[in-house]
Amino acid sequence: MRCRRCRTAPVVIKLPRHHTAFCAGCFDHYMVDQLGRAIHDYRMFGRDEPILVAVSGGKDSLGLWDLLDRMGYTTTGLHVQQGIGDYSTVSETKCRAFADEKRLPLVVYDLRKEYGGGVTEIADATHRSACSSCGTLKRYAFNRIGRELGFGVVATGHNLDDEAARLLGNLLHWQVDYLAKQSPALPAWRAKLIRKVKPLHRLAEREVAAYAVLRKIDYMIDECPMSHDATSLHYKAALNQLEEHSPGTKHFFYLEFLRRQPFGAPGGTEEGVELQECATCGEPTTLPAGQAGGTALCGHCRLIESFGPAQPAAVPVQIDRD
Ligand code: AMP
Repeated sequence: MRCRRCRTAPVVIKLPRHHTAFCAGCFDHYMVDQLGRAIHDYRMFGRDEPILVAVSGGKDSLGLWDLLDRMGYTTTGLHVQQGIGDYSTVSETKCRAFADEKRLPLVVYDLRKEYGGGVTEIADATHRSACSSCGTLKRYAFNRIGRELGFGVVATGHNLDDEAARLLGNLLHWQVDYLAKQSPALPAWRAKLIRKVKPLHRLAEREVAAYAVLRKIDYMIDECPMSHDATSLHYKAALNQLEEHSPGTKHFFYLEFLRRQPFGAPGGTEEGVELQECATCGEPTTLPAGQAGGTALCGHCRLIESFGPAQPAAVPVQIDRD
């Protein structure tokens, strides 16, 4: 079978949702094109703006880092070492090896050094789920470290499948407040917040996986051992079943939601979101219902406070350059 674009080279991937099939070269062109479109449509960052790329060591974030670098953007990786046994050790190794090979700067931020325990210990001690504790700590680290290092934007590797599954979860539970946060580009509403963008949101998980394989990226294949029963995996499985029956379902579900959403211009608006500084760490936080201004603790500080005694001062972070 010949590529539908160049009509000469053999097909390496079929894309039923686009009614097409590409050879390796044309698929690469498609990936760059979709990424460029996402960056442009949501005004994610400018040509010369330094970008902090949050890298887990998986195919999505390393694939994103590779694409942005090839497209000529100035990037630095940020890996949060979560302290989840071998899984975290291997993830960190994959990030370091990728950064070394491409001669790109990488910051490794170790939760165990910062808090005296990793996700496993923090979740156990606080009786919270590992996934929610990890999400809280990572979001906090992306914002604080990004800002301290002088970045205005942090990019994550969330893909179309991640976002469609999240949308399904939010709708099933009618978490209307969360819908506004589903934009692929969240602006820096306050001085202490940096922009958060998801440049892969137009690309399906299998497309990003195919890209990583074709580019010979050595990524972490194993899923996090703490997430084997995560609800999002069930939503993804349900959406995959629908997709198999009707290709394009995920694409239409999420991208059409973005097109129709009543949250204003690309990137959403601040309207209805009440932000104030956390009474402990000073980072911006939404004000919980009924809580008086000036007393609010952010999710991170509530978690860390219930983890244990006062924590040591934040570990200064520096960009590793070889
Ligand atoms: P996940 O929530 O694990 O599906 O990850 C979504 C995105 O968050 C990834 O594509 C990365 O951009 C980022 N991410 C996840 N884990 C880490 C980590 N340990 N360090 C840095 N970024 C991460």
